[in-house]
Amino acid sequence: MWHDVVRVSSQRGSGASNPSSDAELAASLATLWPHRWHESNWLKNVCCCGGLHNWKQLHLEELLPDREVRFCYWCSKVKLDGVIYEG
Ligand SMILES: [Zn+2]
Repeated sequence: MWHDVVRVSSQRGSGASNPSSDAELAASLATLWPHRWHESNWLKNVCCCGGLHNWKQLHLEELLPDREVRFCYWCSKVKLDGVIYEG
């Protein structure tokens, strides 16, 4: 969604602690999760394209304490602390 893109790109130039490493982290986490796009049907495509992702909690407390990590079951998006990254 456009507001997520704006949020990510504004973080990049704002001197936030580690926005680019967050994106890299999300991308690397995505490799842990084989996304299920091949099982998709038109309804799931419509949902993901409309921003209605089927978020699944991944329990990474030991690896990433204090981080909220979710993966979309239907596509390759990763949500890290509420920010959506392309997996
Ligand atoms: Zn999705």
